Amino acid sequence: MAIHFSAAYSHKLSVLRRNADRTRRSNVIKETKVVIIGGGIVGCSVAYHLAKLGWKDVVLLEQNQLAGGTTWHAAGLVGRLRTTNSMTKINKYSVELYAGLERETGHSVGWKQVGSLIVARSQDRMTQLRRTAAMSEWFGVEVQLIGPEAAKEKWPLLRIDDVLGAAWLPHDGKVVPKEVAVALAKGAQAHGATVAENVRVLEVLHRDGRAVGVRVHLSEPVAADVRRLSSLRDAELSVRKEDQSRVTSAAAVDIEAEYVVLAGGMWTRELGLRCGVTIPLHPVEHHYVITEPIEGAFDDLPVGRDPDLCIYFRGEANAVMLGAFQASSKPWMVERVPGDFSFQLLDPDWEKFSEPLKNGKWRIPALETCGFAKFVNGPESFTPDNNFIMGEAPELRNLFVAAGFNSVGIASAGGAGKYLAEWIIEGQPTLDLWSVDIRRFGPWANNRNFLRERVTEVLGLHYQMAWPNREFETGRGLRRTPLHDRLAAQSACFGVKNGWERPNWFARSNTRHPPGDRDHGVAFAESPLMEYSFGRQNWFANHAAEHRAAREKVALFDQSGFSKFILKGSDAVGLLQRLCGNNADVAVGKAVYTGLFNERGGFESDLTLIRLAPDEFQIITGTAQAVHDADWIRRNTAPHEHAELVDVTGSFGVLGVMGPNSRALLSRLTEADLSNAAFPFGTAQQIGIGQATVRAVRVTYVGELGWELHVPMDQLALVYDRLMDAGLDLGITNAGHYAINSLRLEKGYRAWGAELSPDDTPLEAGLAFAIDWRKTFIGRDILLKQKAAGVRRRLAIFVLEDPEPVLWGGELIYRDGTPVGYTTSGSYGHTIGGAIAMGYVNHSAELTQEFILSGRYEINVSGRRCSARIHLQAPYDLARQRILS
Ligand SMILES: Cc1cc2nc3c(=O)[nH]c(=O)nc-3n(C[C@H](O)[C@H](O)[C@H](O)COP(=O)(O)OP(=O)(O)OC[C@H]3O[C@@H](n4cnc5c(N)ncnc54)[C@H](O)[C@@H]3O)c2cc1C
Repeated sequence: MAIHFSAAYSHKLSVLRRNADRTRRSNVIKETKVVIIGGGIVGCSVAYHLAKLGWKDVVLLEQNQLAGGTTWHAAGLVGRLRTTNSMTKINKYSVELYAGLERETGHSVGWKQVGSLIVARSQDRMTQLRRTAAMSEWFGVEVQLIGPEAAKEKWPLLRIDDVLGAAWLPHDGKVVPKEVAVALAKGAQAHGATVAENVRVLEVLHRDGRAVGVRVHLSEPVAADVRRLSSLRDAELSVRKEDQSRVTSAAAVDIEAEYVVLAGGMWTRELGLRCGVTIPLHPVEHHYVITEPIEGAFDDLPVGRDPDLCIYFRGEANAVMLGAFQASSKPWMVERVPGDFSFQLLDPDWEKFSEPLKNGKWRIPALETCGFAKFVNGPESFTPDNNFIMGEAPELRNLFVAAGFNSVGIASAGGAGKYLAEWIIEGQPTLDLWSVDIRRFGPWANNRNFLRERVTEVLGLHYQMAWPNREFETGRGLRRTPLHDRLAAQSACFGVKNGWERPNWFARSNTRHPPGDRDHGVAFAESPLMEYSFGRQNWFANHAAEHRAAREKVALFDQSGFSKFILKGSDAVGLLQRLCGNNADVAVGKAVYTGLFNERGGFESDLTLIRLAPDEFQIITGTAQAVHDADWIRRNTAPHEHAELVDVTGSFGVLGVMGPNSRALLSRLTEADLSNAAFPFGTAQQIGIGQATVRAVRVTYVGELGWELHVPMDQLALVYDRLMDAGLDLGITNAGHYAINSLRLEKGYRAWGAELSPDDTPLEAGLAFAIDWRKTFIGRDILLKQKAAGVRRRLAIFVLEDPEPVLWGGELIYRDGTPVGYTTSGSYGHTIGGAIAMGYVNHSAELTQEFILSGRYEINVSGRRCSARIHLQAPYDLARQRILS
């Protein structure tokens, strides 16, 4: 390794700087601002960026040697394109950083811009490449679609007789991962950080819900170093004699720190468990081989990927590296990741590699006859959703995490380090990082049996088709409502969100579906199994029937996964006034829709409040947002404020009773007066439904007359049965979340995580109506500035002219032939009769309504540009006006 602790005396001066009052504590040898645990590429990147941004009092601790964990054996592929804007920004930044690191640090990282090539052998894969190429245009990543012959020119050893085409990314490349880590560490040191090897962190120290440092174990050579240094430089270090003896005898010492960063790769889950922090990741065996020299192979061959065959390949000197992302992989079944697993590999597993090897020989026939010089079987940490984990732990203030990199840690580390450093310094993310935010997981996700099952599927996802609505097949059934078996018996096809099993749609055997075997000429799916496609999927007709039931009769939605809280205390209303854009100080019984904003004016959440009492509110927010929203509210509650937040998600189910017949249906089961006068929109009441008592809330996310019933979980089945029985002649229909999605899009209702993110403001999202400018709230100042200056991006709704295609979200939008943004979510609007999506229109100057509406719009549907009508108001309202007039 290039950096040895024993050589870094100058840095140890700061390591041993005296703590003013340490004599009162045992074994405290250091006080620093930030301690980073883990000297892999990620920890080194965090240290580098913190120091570069001016935080020099940073100590990075590595239990063995730098890069000795997973980093050293990585294949070094660095691609720039990811599926979201933020992730692409992260990877693009990594490439730029690595390309200049040698110049900056004097340490070569082996960066080679060899380009990358993705070949397709199926029409579906070609469609995916076309979708990718279109989006990359917007993300600023050059992607060329080329034919098989051109692909062979780039990679002459390829077999192309079954290749339909390829994507060529000229700016991708490769590095030597270990050297990147070392260069970043050197860069960090040059900017003032301290890097220490052979120091194992035993645990994170915490007090009053805050990380305050780490307890470390100094290996004997390091302890000896410390002893020598202490005696040599006693005066300078002002280490008193009694402290020296402590250091001498101590195997474990404490380092106090304001911030602690866990970047311990596959060891990080364990470190988290020891301080009560949820970091769901698990090591998985990941394989590649390197051949003996092959004629025609050379180091500058592009990085090749054949996702249909689950393989990647590149030149390695005059040989070939062949790696695998098999559909089903093997967790490393280790009880505890051993601390001394440095520069080590697992045993070669030729049996597991036989399929990729066969596929590799097919794609690169020269592999048929070559020998193999090396088998790399390295463990790498994978997360439940194939996105890495970063950010401040909700359980402990000032404890940050950057781990679980799912085999893209080399490509992501540069950007991840930069954005984590900014997050630490600014106190909040400087970019929408929700897809990797640690707060997307609750404790349910950290169960080891669940992780071991789920990660078998995750590794392969990199190369599986990126089907719209693809659902995980493993690790299912973790969170179920009491209705689960009833809905399953009625042919619900379930999807999963935040662990909750939710009905997405119902198969034809659902007894509550309207009669007939076709809808709009399309056959119903008879069984609740997804058949994926980029076009209409097999549930199209089922979805149409559920959608129409909500518009024309009455539909019943199980929305129990909604996150729910009670906020209670004498300061609850004051706190909400400070957090919410809308006025929360409303009469008891009123429901309020509001956004919560960050200092940049972006949406941290959008949610509904119900005032239950002068000092008590119910908060209802998205299924995915439970941990995130609770964290946001708690971290913004001042210590002196009297407002207690309790998560009651598991205690109440939610039944959406939506449609023109909803009032008639509910009136059969309740004595309450449901008229507009007695139960107006935006209010809530406790009412009886049969023998149960529920909180009925007159709101809608689908744009129809309806009530959301908040039912104690133990009475959910009772209420469901009563509604179903009573609604038979009113046309009651089970309906799923796909119907909610199309209904809300027709009505122009936004969704957090799609249209609304920490980067989107209410003025851009067209939600300024839900803001009360007369009061102060977080984000108000910046929003007022934006209001005065005008916006440069604006959310709009698009409906395709051609009724045939479908939209899924993630499609490029053109205005007068020029890309202006992409769709944030999409579906098929069965009332308006065409595919519908939302998306932001971006402009270099102020965006006026006239500019927006005067354009000619198209949406790229799998490579084909389809004309679209743009709307700033709900297309459903227009359709309804047309019907009524
Ligand atoms: C075979 C294979 C090929 C790969 N190829 C690629 C590729 O081509 N491109 C790509 O982008 N990614 C690739 N990856 C993934 C990539 O290697 C990882 O995502 C990345 O190295 C993770 O870096 P890290 O810093 O998070 O973890 P690590 O490199 O494992 O670093 C974590 C460090 O923390 C230290 N540590 C842990 N606990 C403690 C403690 N208690 N005290 C002190 N130190 C501690 C460990 O010793 C370790 O050095 C590949 C992975 C494998 C297995």
